[in-house]
Amino acid sequence: MFIINNKIYLGASRTAGEIGHISVEADGPKCKCRQNGCLEKLISLHAFKEAVSASGSKDVNSNIGELLYNDSPGYVKKLIKNYGYYLGKALSQVIHLMNPQLINCG
Ligand SMILES: [Zn+2]
Repeated sequence: MFIINNKIYLGASRTAGEIGHISVEADGPKCKCRQNGCLEKLISLHAFKEAVSASGSKDVNSNIGELLYNDSPGYVKKLIKNYGYYLGKALSQVIHLMNPQLINCG
């Protein structure tokens, strides 16, 4: 959602401000929305758990602190760095489009 002049704006299909389907990687995995490389496919919690599992780690259900502590090859740190890159890439599009005063990711 957006808040514009103290009023909530949800858009025609009530998804305004939803950034999960912003594509940030043209060659990324196919999303249910039929695009490639959506944030949802790349940096969601589900995607994170899949990536950790694919690394061979048995710590899939650990919290992020435990994952980082046990991350001797640096795989999780690299994942998180990539996630920051993708999130920044998507948010920069939002910033250029909407010029918001504040972005609340909570
Ligand atoms: Zn999508």
